[in-house]
Amino acid sequence: MGRLKELNKDNVKLPSPPAIAVRILEAVKQDDSSFAELSRIVSADPALTAKMLKVANSSYYALPNKVDTIEKALSVLGVDVLKNIALSFVIAKEVRGDEGEGFSFEYFWKKSVTCAVGAELLSKLLRYKNDDIFVCALLQDIGILIMFLCRPLDYLQVLDEKKVTGAPVTEVERKVFGFDHQEIGAELLQEWGLPENIYGPIRHHHDGECTDDQRMQADLLRWSALLASVYHGSRSAERVQELKLELVERFKIEEERIDAMVDSVAEKCIEILSSFEIDPGNMKPFSQLLQEANEELRRLNLSYEQLVMEFKQAKEKAERLAGELMEANTKLRELAFRDGLTGLYNHRYFQELMTRDMSSTVRYGSVLSLMMFDIDHFKLVNDTYGHPGGDLILRKLATLVQESMRTSDVVARYGGEEFAVILPMTDAGGCKVFAERLRRKVEQMETKIDESLVKITVSIGLATYEPGMAATDKSQLIDAADRALYQSKKNGRNRVSVATM
Ligand code: GH3
Ligand code: MG
Ligand code: MG
Repeated sequence: MGRLKELNKDNVKLPSPPAIAVRILEAVKQDDSSFAELSRIVSADPALTAKMLKVANSSYYALPNKVDTIEKALSVLGVDVLKNIALSFVIAKEVRGDEGEGFSFEYFWKKSVTCAVGAELLSKLLRYKNDDIFVCALLQDIGILIMFLCRPLDYLQVLDEKKVTGAPVTEVERKVFGFDHQEIGAELLQEWGLPENIYGPIRHHHDGECTDDQRMQADLLRWSALLASVYHGSRSAERVQELKLELVERFKIEEERIDAMVDSVAEKCIEILSSFEIDPGNMKPFSQLLQEANEELRRLNLSYEQLVMEFKQAKEKAERLAGELMEANTKLRELAFRDGLTGLYNHRYFQELMTRDMSSTVRYGSVLSLMMFDIDHFKLVNDTYGHPGGDLILRKLATLVQESMRTSDVVARYGGEEFAVILPMTDAGGCKVFAERLRRKVEQMETKIDESLVKITVSIGLATYEPGMAATDKSQLIDAADRALYQSKKNGRNRVSVATM
């Protein structure tokens, strides 16, 4: 009784055995009278009677006829079974404390009842007859309750440490308390007067150091704990595997029968738990849990695929929008550079291009020519054919120039009826040839305005930058071309003049 005393010296009150449990245990000791005595004790407690009859009539025992009195239940199920049912009820009802943070008595007993049901079903599967196995499995962890009730903070520390380190619970208990729940549980039950057949295997349900005749019972307790964690723990599938591995090898049982037994634990538990006034919660047969988990997984996979697809579509849409935006921006920028009437580059952009082209020409020691031209007597054209007619000619001239030049050349509308063409990498000779060809083409160009075919001419001025020249600024080249243009006007129009630089 050493361990209990150790706990006692902290001045904590150990739970005393429920009075009715003591009486039941006393009664079954007196072999002959146990039958009558037991039924008398139980019948004196209507609530207990009702619960016991409920269990006796449950699918658990699957009795052919309804049992409506304790006497009948006794004669059908036997003294030992009835005694154990009664003990289970009274102990699970009495040994409780306040529900608090970190420890739940409700959860503890739910797990214990699952152990009890599991142990019973397992012993049936293994054809191992033992009337005490239900109550034995139910009470296997009662030591935990005692330790928690006596030193709650220390026991919460045990639970925390077990969670963090993953060490076996008995190991952590011994570290914190100096003993484990096997020892204390067995000691308490022995003190309460329960038979050795019950406290013996409990004393060794983790360490397995029991006598040979208690080994099977101790193993059943261990397996029942595995079954309980299938339903009240994490990694349920692993627990089932663990159980199967041991049972298949040792007893050569087919896996399907183990699966069926695991499922029936849930079914029977729901029934039994309600007799214990414990909410079974969302307990479902393991195979159903597995199926639901698989369906959930499939659903998650599907929604994952959906997500990926939506993401892909959104990405494509964003890329398309970005492309469209870039295109629109380019167009907008172009528009800002363009002249509305002719579609040619405007004066502002001509100046930018000239800056760029001049500096790269000077830097790379290349050549660049600039051609400027102005329509001759355009005022007269306007006066004769009207402003819209003049506009028509301006547009037609713009197209003609564009068609006549190389792609590297750039034409801009410099002013009203004055144009400028930049010809990179073109020397004075090349530029002159181009200018003459254009002049002639313009001369031949006919624009139909109303019923008339209108012809125009242009006066052209050329200037060329060549390496080694002092004038490296664009405005110097523009002025020179402009002067040459003026020269063409002065010399009679419809001609090309080359600036001297
Ligand atoms: P010159 O041979 O000396 O260049 O004679 P000109 O009549 O062409 O010269 P002037 O500078 O006196 O007149 C230019 C005319 O060009 C004046 C204007 O009516 C016309 N003009 C300028 N811009 C436009 C335009 O956008 N549309 C039209 N229809 N006419 C324009
Ligand atoms: Mg003019
Ligand atoms: Mg003019």
